[in-house]
Amino acid sequence: MSAHVIEIVPEAVCPEVLSRADAFAAVKAVFAAMATGDARNFPVVREALAAGGPLYGFKSGHDLAGGVLGVKAGGYWPENLARGLTNHQSVVALFDPETGQLSALVGGNYLTAVRTAAASAVSIRHLARADARVLGMVGAGHQSAFQLRAAAEVHRFERVLAWNPHPEMLPKLAAVAAEIGLPFAAVEREQLCAEADVIITITSAFEPLLLADWIRPGTHLACMGTDTRGKQEVDAALLARAQVLTDEVAQSVSIGEAQHAMGRGLITAADVTAIGAVITGAHPGRRDSEAITLFDGTGVALQDLAAAAMALRRAREGGLASKATL
Ligand code: NAD
Repeated sequence: MSAHVIEIVPEAVCPEVLSRADAFAAVKAVFAAMATGDARNFPVVREALAAGGPLYGFKSGHDLAGGVLGVKAGGYWPENLARGLTNHQSVVALFDPETGQLSALVGGNYLTAVRTAAASAVSIRHLARADARVLGMVGAGHQSAFQLRAAAEVHRFERVLAWNPHPEMLPKLAAVAAEIGLPFAAVEREQLCAEADVIITITSAFEPLLLADWIRPGTHLACMGTDTRGKQEVDAALLARAQVLTDEVAQSVSIGEAQHAMGRGLITAADVTAIGAVITGAHPGRRDSEAITLFDGTGVALQDLAAAAMALRRAREGGLASKATL
């Protein structure tokens, strides 16, 4: 039996090779491919290892158009920060779609953050009002810095307002805003909703943090924290008032923010639109300047695979992909 060589892009190499612009392009392209049926995600496996403990699972998919097949394995270990480790731990395995042979292993931690931020950035680019100037951040954990950087790169914001259930985490986010030259203020939730044109939510909340009546007409929300049954960041009533878009409708209504509005009979799956349809032009997107648009970013396998494939390509170009024999 002949030896089989695989490529490895170590976790530490991923931030060096995968830029935010690359992640944005990869995620946008795969959202479009999902909308045309050229790429599909397989059912997610996500299991709690202990009540309130780590979540472990697999997200896999196939991008026929891009020739990418693979799986992200890993999950969320809530106690990791105390150990000096990232809460999210994962690795992406890419397979040759022709032969099924493992072709590469790519560190998944940075990829997860950068592809999640790219998804909300894609939503901002396609759904926010062109005259949006104030960015509201709800959440100040690991992902929030990536979210802020990506949003600021795709839209010209003038200032950032932020709120977090644990206010002691906000200075880290303030430092990111300072680094990218945006004025930053920590405010209460109602004020954030009254002034922000675009709101990103990226928390581990299990109850609504933002009430429907606080949200002004014309606001765009990217709700990125809810990726599991039971989680919730915004009032279910908001989804009945908003134009709801998502990465994948099946995930949105089962594990995303839309699960609650669905469960209460406020919306049906037909009220939720895949953002890929807006990217391809099949759906017009924002109805008018008064509409509230809400992107329910649940996180799909194809985002991970697209980002991993791009990281592998860039690592190869830079001579930073190592090889191993299997
Ligand atoms: P983190 O642990 O670094 O930060 C957690 C954030 O949630 C902080 O803002 C914290 O103050 C807040 N929080 C913690 N417990 C809370 C509670 N009980 N109620 C309300 N808020 C609470 O986590 P992170 O890596 O920044 O991830 C944030 C969220 O984003 C998680 O829920 C994670 O699962 C989710 N996530 C989603 C995607 C996606 O594709 N949609 C990808 C990655 C992470």
